[in-house]
Amino acid sequence: MRIARFDNDRVGIVRDDVIQDLTGALAQLPAHRHPFPHHDALIANLEILANATTTRTVPLARVELLSPVANPGKIMAAPVNYAKHLEEVLADKGIHHGNLVAEIHKAGIFLKATSSLVGPSEGVQLVHLDRRNDHEVELAVVIGTRGRDIAAADALSYVAGYCIGLDMTIRGPEERSLRKSPDSYTVLGPWLVTADEIPDPGNLNLSISVNGKIRQQANTKDLILGVPELIAWASSFYTLHPGDVLLTGTPQGVGPVRPGDVMLASLERVGEMRVEVSAA
Ligand code: MN
Repeated sequence: MRIARFDNDRVGIVRDDVIQDLTGALAQLPAHRHPFPHHDALIANLEILANATTTRTVPLARVELLSPVANPGKIMAAPVNYAKHLEEVLADKGIHHGNLVAEIHKAGIFLKATSSLVGPSEGVQLVHLDRRNDHEVELAVVIGTRGRDIAAADALSYVAGYCIGLDMTIRGPEERSLRKSPDSYTVLGPWLVTADEIPDPGNLNLSISVNGKIRQQANTKDLILGVPELIAWASSFYTLHPGDVLLTGTPQGVGPVRPGDVMLASLERVGEMRVEVSAA
């Protein structure tokens, strides 16, 4: 299934060039009152969509796509998880700014603010325009099942699905969590492709172009820590909850964007998303 959120918090399934609007099925979700759970209620109950029916379809070209996860409990992200990106970072002071940069085994996983999350239609709104603001295209994993201390061999069974993730980044000396968490600096889309459609997330082409020029182009087979290893490692620190997002790291080719730019990101077996850049 390709699950999209769109327009005014509507939910549907993408089939070819239309979305079947299944928003009515959301009424079946458990009603939560304060204090709210640490998970996303829809991602924890995706089966309600598999069983839903509708006659309303909307042309995909006419909808505003939102983040396929509405309420992630956390957004985890892997730094420097492609060897060629590590080489590029170490070679360019404009990227590393004197920060200690190490491969992921030493650098660990960091968190981005959940308030940074948007969908493709909302666009990226840059802050601190005097600084370098970069795109980072990544395979994004959405957790579907609660788990802790998950073995790598079992890890893929904890995945709800996959999306394209953009880990937008202000370069500079501060902690990653600050520089990567302004509003709109995490883009998830264009929809969630459920894990049954992607049995091997370790062999997917991904790319991003800016204004029609390719900037990053790689394959997830070059990840230093693959999806199972990342889930195992993350879950040795955190309990993972349905709806948690894991950005798996960006390949070589990161570069700056400016207001007015248009990014087109693509991920094999998932699709493409177009994201406009403006000034906040
Ligand atoms: Mn990143």
